[in-house]
Amino acid sequence: MRNGQTQKNSLKVLVLGFDGASQSLVARWIDHLPNFKLLKDLNIFGQTIPPIPAQTPVAWTTFMTGKNPGNHGIFSFAFRQTGTYKRKIIDPRMLKSKTLWQILSEAGKRVGVLNVPMCDCCDIKGFMIPGFMSRSEGIPYPDSVREKIKRKFGIKKFAGDLEIATLEKAQSDPELFFERVNQMTDCMAEICLYLFEEEEWDFFMPVFMGLDRIQHFFWKNIDSTHPKFEENKLSNLVENFYVKADRIVGNFLKLADENTLVIVLSDHGFCSVHREVIINNYLEEKGFLTTNAGKIDLEKSKAVSYGYGDIWLNVKQREPQGIIDLAEEYDHVRTQISTELKKIEIDGEKPIKDVKKREELWWGTYLNQAPDLNIIFNIGYQAARQPEITEKNELKRYVNDSPRWSGGHDGTHDPLDVLGIIGILGPGIKGGKDLRIHLWDLAPTILNWMNVPIPADMDGRPIRLKA
Ligand SMILES: [Zn+2]
Repeated sequence: MRNGQTQKNSLKVLVLGFDGASQSLVARWIDHLPNFKLLKDLNIFGQTIPPIPAQTPVAWTTFMTGKNPGNHGIFSFAFRQTGTYKRKIIDPRMLKSKTLWQILSEAGKRVGVLNVPMCDCCDIKGFMIPGFMSRSEGIPYPDSVREKIKRKFGIKKFAGDLEIATLEKAQSDPELFFERVNQMTDCMAEICLYLFEEEEWDFFMPVFMGLDRIQHFFWKNIDSTHPKFEENKLSNLVENFYVKADRIVGNFLKLADENTLVIVLSDHGFCSVHREVIINNYLEEKGFLTTNAGKIDLEKSKAVSYGYGDIWLNVKQREPQGIIDLAEEYDHVRTQISTELKKIEIDGEKPIKDVKKREELWWGTYLNQAPDLNIIFNIGYQAARQPEITEKNELKRYVNDSPRWSGGHDGTHDPLDVLGIIGILGPGIKGGKDLRIHLWDLAPTILNWMNVPIPADMDGRPIRLKA
């Protein structure tokens, strides 16, 4: 036992995050995953329900705040800056809530937060390496930890995610892609295990991104319902990566003190995607969107999508050149758009399961910053990412038949179609319990376990862990 584990305080928590780990695949391969099987047979095991949309930054933010997007302010990768037509990409500065690590730090606990998406290093007691969508992604904080990592591993910057060049070659050179993602994950696991033993902490949490990246490209190799399903050596490489994730869990379990609460979780799962709907092309066809020389005329359009399932209306006194009257027309236009979208049929299939008004999905202080409508796609479909009008083909003006990815979760889907995983193990926890839990319930559950008061403004509620 090293310094990290010699403190008297036994209320420690280890969270092992696997971005995109899918409950359906863990269930399929459970006999090859001894540590997941241990969680399943002897402890608490089940599914996490991601928020809508089940996008990585929104989902981890929901976990780390214990709140729904209406109360933490992150609704999607992209958003419309209030009072403008500007499409912007989110970053952690937009987070309107304290995080689990800030709350724990204020309560005098030491935290270690490694590669969690959407993190800034401010106001924490402990150490952090910000992950995906963070401004200082990969740079260890504080300097003492950065120096230690540099001395021990010879690196200045931590690689918690794949570089764009590797992602671009995923289809043309899948072997190289898998080699790289395995290498990156091994290296990250080694650094995390080192910090786990070397540093003092009360709360320790790494997030491994590999499964998410793999499944976006290779879902077609493991899902027999995908039209391009092909079982081959790539299918084995996907399964092998689940085995690696399981081994990482095992390595941490070996080192963890028996009084530590261990939570294994993912932010969302995956579903098949074989077609995309180009929302702006459809809005144009139905007369809600106006173009000028091939570009969207934001001032003259009633509605536009910024590239996900989001739809933003052009409302008087809200947008600079608003055209929809809030009292007279706003709700009616939303219903019209929703009705039109739900009519779409492609080769006898309905791509859209539902279209929701923002107040039907979210609640809270920042609801007024949410998209006015959000589309929920059926399995097999997602929103095309283009925020622009794209070149049209005469037959299918708003359909992309060959998306870059064969698996998805964030374009946007019903949370129940893309469930994540959860396993919980710890002292006094009785086994054999099935669990289905909202991501926002985890922060209050962790605080409760650590005897730290739960802030009154959290949406989630602690779940009972002991029998
Ligand atoms: Zn994710």
